[in-house]
Amino acid sequence: VDIEGRVRLVMESTLTARDRVGVQDFVLLENHNSEAAFIENLRRRFRENLIYTYIGSVLVSVNPYKELEIYSKPQMERYKGVSFYEISPHYAVSDNTYRAMRTTWKDQCILISGESGSGKTEASKKILLYYAVTCPTNHHMTTLGDRLLQSNPILEAFGNAKTLKNDNSSRFGKYMDVQFNFKGMPVGGHILNYLLEESRVVHQNHGERNFHIFYQLLDGGSSELLQMLDLERNPQNYQYLVKGSCSKVSSMSDKNNWKVLMNALSVLGFTEEDLQNLLNITASVLHLGNIQFGEGEEGETHITTLLGLQASSLSEALTHRKFTAKGEEMIIPINFEQAISARDALAKAVYGRAFTWLVDKINQSLALKDDMDHSNKAFPVIGLLDIYGFEVLQRNFEQFCINYCSEKLQQLFIELTLGSEQEEYTTEGIAWEMVPYFDNKIICDLIEARHKGIIAILDEECLRPGETSDASFLEKLEDTLGGHPHFVHKLANGKTRKVMSREEFRLLHYAGEVNYNVDFLEKNNDSLNRTLKEIMCQSDNEIISQCFSREEAATHFKNSLSRLMDILMTKEPSYVRCIKPNDTKQPHFDEVLVRHQVRYLGLMENLRVRRAGFAYRRSFEAFLQYKPLCPETWPNWYGRLHDGVATLVNHLGYQEEEYKLGSKIFIRFPKTLFLTEDALQA
Ligand code: ATP
Ligand code: MG
Repeated sequence: VDIEGRVRLVMESTLTARDRVGVQDFVLLENHNSEAAFIENLRRRFRENLIYTYIGSVLVSVNPYKELEIYSKPQMERYKGVSFYEISPHYAVSDNTYRAMRTTWKDQCILISGESGSGKTEASKKILLYYAVTCPTNHHMTTLGDRLLQSNPILEAFGNAKTLKNDNSSRFGKYMDVQFNFKGMPVGGHILNYLLEESRVVHQNHGERNFHIFYQLLDGGSSELLQMLDLERNPQNYQYLVKGSCSKVSSMSDKNNWKVLMNALSVLGFTEEDLQNLLNITASVLHLGNIQFGEGEEGETHITTLLGLQASSLSEALTHRKFTAKGEEMIIPINFEQAISARDALAKAVYGRAFTWLVDKINQSLALKDDMDHSNKAFPVIGLLDIYGFEVLQRNFEQFCINYCSEKLQQLFIELTLGSEQEEYTTEGIAWEMVPYFDNKIICDLIEARHKGIIAILDEECLRPGETSDASFLEKLEDTLGGHPHFVHKLANGKTRKVMSREEFRLLHYAGEVNYNVDFLEKNNDSLNRTLKEIMCQSDNEIISQCFSREEAATHFKNSLSRLMDILMTKEPSYVRCIKPNDTKQPHFDEVLVRHQVRYLGLMENLRVRRAGFAYRRSFEAFLQYKPLCPETWPNWYGRLHDGVATLVNHLGYQEEEYKLGSKIFIRFPKTLFLTEDALQA
């Protein structure tokens, strides 16, 4: 082949390469209004193991369901300080956020969202790993990086479980702040946890498991340990582990994970006593599940010993109820069903409290040590949010909370990327044509509005114990919310009656329809009876005695979510939007499923706004940090900030369509800004 022919061949192969792998930023997609082109681009990249694609600074990630080569240390090193337009996107969000934190000293956060099994937890671990590996460290800090990473196996052992959607599904929400000092070293961490799915402790759907820890302990614990805890190795022997008829998960080794867990606990500085208390609680939950009322009391002996309780008090509390009538305290026996439900309530409460204790303990270990630096308040943080994804698995109260949370996050996303983004252009006088989008605020309001929202109605019903029932709650919902476009109940019309039972209502969430069973009342009224709480407060087990003083309910959850939203609003957000490519946990791209997610995540609207908009902005003050690039004018320059910035961009050669000046500078492409930044560094 002659030279010309060779050139042509090279050019053709480059062209086909681009055809093959698609574009790494959707903004570059030629047919950017076409959903089909959008999905085709995702598919091509997925086929080539390129699972990450940008929409401007939002990262779209498709779960590959196989191990990729891209997460090695040398790969990470390549990203350090490299502007993100130069290199493929997978660590760019981590690096870009870090870079923004270091140049602006403002708090950042990375919000990871997507449905169950879409890869949120994996993404958050990769981001944390990136910081642990690439940030500057000194002797102290190496251990902090380790501790940050090692907090994951601990929380996953106690807070994750196999579900139908995901073998390692997070059954709690997690927000983690990583604090950096002025040298850019990670120096502290703090975790906030949200609503653990406690009902899993006592019940699992078919094909699902209880929390990993139980199986890890039984499979990995030494014979001496199991003997000490009065446990047998076979999970089939425990009522709380047989409900889902599933005790093994082919994709994970419980035995190995037990070792990983033990190592992690020791890295985080858990003492022998802590460990003992924790395992005692884990074992006592299994024993609780095996209590047979009316038969021998052998099970209870195990429990009272393990939990450090008075021998007779537990059995009395499980079979009797104490209440006050006309100022007098009465004790009455309860029936078999009530006893079962008291037992289950206790198991859930014990486990839930132990989980909260675990998070506190991890936080102590991650806390910035005061003696290192006294000005720690000023240290900026990068927050990482990995919260349970939207799911349609059960119909219970916890599912309702999970989906409500997902709804709130979507609201935050569209508010920030579609809502206020577009409003800002208008108020800044930048010519702008509004991109329409679905605002799910209407669904958030349906759930959380004062007086008329589902949670308010629920609370009100709970205030009148004895007078209310599940049926009266449903009736109240129907009366108050009957006409709402996202609330469907059995009386609404003939069509829905068939698929809904009498005890259900249906919400049309942003991500799909879910039927909920109305048995919320009991769940909302922390159903643990008073006697049981009193007994637990007297336990010798420190974890137990410390934790039995709180009440929890939907309002508590609503308030903690609202505080989370406040925390997130004070930070500069970046987004990872995770997509689940199929329902079979296989490396396979199911177009129908992907399209559904692209739609409800609002990705096309997101792209439209990004294409037309100015994604990058800096205050005039911040932008003037580049003034050393224009030594002819500075330092002898006097005038308005606005004019200073205008002079500077002129000098830097920014083209007219690349930027706009309003009350701050708006920049269309990241490249423009990063080239300026690189010039300053050089
Ligand atoms: P949930 O809401 O249920 O917690 P999730 O979004 O956190 O779901 P993950 O647990 O992160 O989902 O991912 C589910 C599974 O998908 C992982 O256990 C892993 O097998 C696979 N997976 C996800 N992301 C990746 C990745 N980047 N590389 C390889 N496998 C992945
Ligand atoms: Mg998860």
